[in-house]
Amino acid sequence: MGKVLIIGAGGVSSVVVHKCAQHPDVFEEIVLASRTKSKCDSIAAQIDRPIETAQVDADNVPELVELIKKVQPDLVLNVALPYQDLHIMDACLETGVNYLDTANYEPEDTAKFEYKWQWDYQDRFKDAGIMALLGSGFDPGVTSVFCTYIQKHHLDEVHTIDIIDVNAGDHGYPFATNFNPEINIREVTARGRYWEKGEWKETDPLSVKHAFEVPENIGTPNIYLMYHEELESLAKHIPHLKRARFWMSFGDSYLKHLEVLGNVGMTRIDEVEFNGQKIIPLQFLKALLPDPATLGPRTVGKTWIGCQVTGLKDGKEKTVTIYNTCDHQECYKEVQSQAISYTTGVPAMIGANLMISKVWSGEGVFNMEQMDPDPFMDLLNTCGLPWKVIDGPVIDLG
Ligand code: NDP
Repeated sequence: MGKVLIIGAGGVSSVVVHKCAQHPDVFEEIVLASRTKSKCDSIAAQIDRPIETAQVDADNVPELVELIKKVQPDLVLNVALPYQDLHIMDACLETGVNYLDTANYEPEDTAKFEYKWQWDYQDRFKDAGIMALLGSGFDPGVTSVFCTYIQKHHLDEVHTIDIIDVNAGDHGYPFATNFNPEINIREVTARGRYWEKGEWKETDPLSVKHAFEVPENIGTPNIYLMYHEELESLAKHIPHLKRARFWMSFGDSYLKHLEVLGNVGMTRIDEVEFNGQKIIPLQFLKALLPDPATLGPRTVGKTWIGCQVTGLKDGKEKTVTIYNTCDHQECYKEVQSQAISYTTGVPAMIGANLMISKVWSGEGVFNMEQMDPDPFMDLLNTCGLPWKVIDGPVIDLG
């Protein structure tokens, strides 16, 4: 049916390539390009279908344009880093090709999470008659679709959304991150922020927490209020919404290390002079930490990511919770990756699948909750991320 050009060859990309290869009816041809071609080649070597590979610097728009013209894909699937989003969108505009990503654009020198830069492409994508789908990972991505699914099938009005992301997995290291360390630490050390009654409220980083007894005996971690990008688009697109918050679990060892690293300046993202060279401490730290793509064989335990949503049904107040659980070792057996890369890579493949097969289509820039949730929810069930719905809450978050 179509051809996909995947950009980036890290942990998430590896899952995307495996999962696209499992659907040859939709992804007839797969091309994988990244900054380091050898990483594309080692992913391609794990797949028993031919995958073409290429080298590209995704910060260089003319280079991207040349590659896209040569490959002639139906869709560019961006799983490089958020810094590359706008360059890849520019190249898609120039070549008239649809675009999909899993994380919103961030400028490299400020940890600022806003859709503004990408929403500004709306008119240009519309005029070019092409579609950009933003945030087709798990959170954002599946969490956004969970909310619209509840809105469509379980409630007449959605009033509050609490997104809860628990990773109860253990990789055995005192400190490691489950996806790109630089992006992860920028996100976690940012100020907390949630949306209430039409305005943003701020908290000190990781200062609000609750103990959570996760369903299905997955664990009893603390979950911490933090900002996450889907809050911005949900606040814009879900009518009647009164409050939206995001919570993530962190272990004590992770937080202790993060505090010390922050105190000594290792999480700084500004340049410092070192031995006559300019370095960014967080980038140096990334070079020292375990590569998330290598955590697969040693990570055990499960993830639990869900949305607890309240609202009105037939005039009465009602709470509905919807969630997925994913087992790190099961993911490793299937695609040689841990569950964090898996839970991001599978929805990226599903979004691409729906765009290439034109089940999801449009002209302009779209967030996940603007699309019909049903075909996406069906594919989650058949592609490795089945979900469950509970009538009622799983936690009292006040
Ligand atoms: P990795 O760091 O493992 O991989 C990133 C890849 O992008 C690497 O192969 C890297 O190349 C490549 N890359 C970086 N810069 C360039 C460039 N200028 N040109 C070409 N390629 C480049 O990251 P992850 O796989 O962990 O994450 C991928 C994306 O997924 C990120 O945007 C992340 O924010 C997002 N994500 C989204 C989640 C969600 O649920 N929505 C959850 C987790 C991640 P090289 O190998 O040379 O360094």
